[in-house]
Amino acid sequence: MEASRRIAAIAANAQWFEDNSPISPEHKKKSVKGISARAINVVVGSGDASPSSPIGINLPNANWIRAEHGSKSVTISNLVHSYHEVGRESGEIEEFTLREEDIALHKKYGFLTGVLHVDLHEVIGHASGRLEPGVGTLKETLKNYAATLEEARADLVALYYMPDLKLVEIGVAPSAEVGRVIYNGYITNGLMQQLKRIKPGEDIEEAHMRNRQLVAGWAYEKGKPEGVIEKVVHQGKTYFLVNDYEKLRELFGALLREVQRIKSEGDYEAGRALVETYGVKVDRELNEEVLERYEKLAIAPYSGFINPVLKPVTRNGEIVDVAIEYPEDFTEQMLYYAREYSLLPTYN
Ligand SMILES: [Zn+2]
Repeated sequence: MEASRRIAAIAANAQWFEDNSPISPEHKKKSVKGISARAINVVVGSGDASPSSPIGINLPNANWIRAEHGSKSVTISNLVHSYHEVGRESGEIEEFTLREEDIALHKKYGFLTGVLHVDLHEVIGHASGRLEPGVGTLKETLKNYAATLEEARADLVALYYMPDLKLVEIGVAPSAEVGRVIYNGYITNGLMQQLKRIKPGEDIEEAHMRNRQLVAGWAYEKGKPEGVIEKVVHQGKTYFLVNDYEKLRELFGALLREVQRIKSEGDYEAGRALVETYGVKVDRELNEEVLERYEKLAIAPYSGFINPVLKPVTRNGEIVDVAIEYPEDFTEQMLYYAREYSLLPTYN
């Protein structure tokens, strides 16, 4: 209930977020339409969403439907919570964070920061902005770069607003310090941690991963003259430190304005250049270092979820309750599904 109240408060202020965004006035929605938003807990995942599920969903994808009728968002709270608990217990934060005060802030606000980022990304990010008249759909204009740029846009909206006092004012954040927590985490993940999923010699292919490196890498490079983000090697380990949070917010705002322009105008060339320059190629040395550090932590690069088993409890032929059992063996569960629910016929 608390999470739904929070996400509803964000949705109710959608027009304020649109009006105060750093994007160009002609790319803003005059009236943000019908955003429905909920925080939910999932019981069972299937199909594309299982065993690795998204933690937030915003639909529909079609821009013309969104423009006319609005969109619907869900944040999947119990999955965000699980990811956070795994990160907390594994020593991952300590491994990649140099300053003690950043570790302390993460412990204090890490979980809330995670859900707020998803809420803002889905509810405000994907729903914001508009195309210029006569510009085609993203798939037509930005082609193979459409997904990466759309994810970057949604992340940038969330990043831009995370340190805003508006979040405190509408009662969804306890302090503007959630902005520090997300900035530390986003930069470290985008420039370093997510490389745990890349094997030596590979490029980044997945849209969300390209987006994160693009955003973090662009901000790192543009802020370099002023030392906004600093790369530090301490006892043989690489760290990225955010030194100027205000300035980093301005950089996120500037990149948001540009990515929104690319989407609104359908500027394929500029979109391609951004993604190819910052989102695809990997720092080989850093990649190997990250893989080594994760191997020591014994954390797998991807997480998945085992489904609970729901068993009806019947009395006089009526279902009166559902008992929940938690199996512990992933392979067993997959084999069980294959045995019991395989839809492909077998030919002898
Ligand atoms: Zn998204």
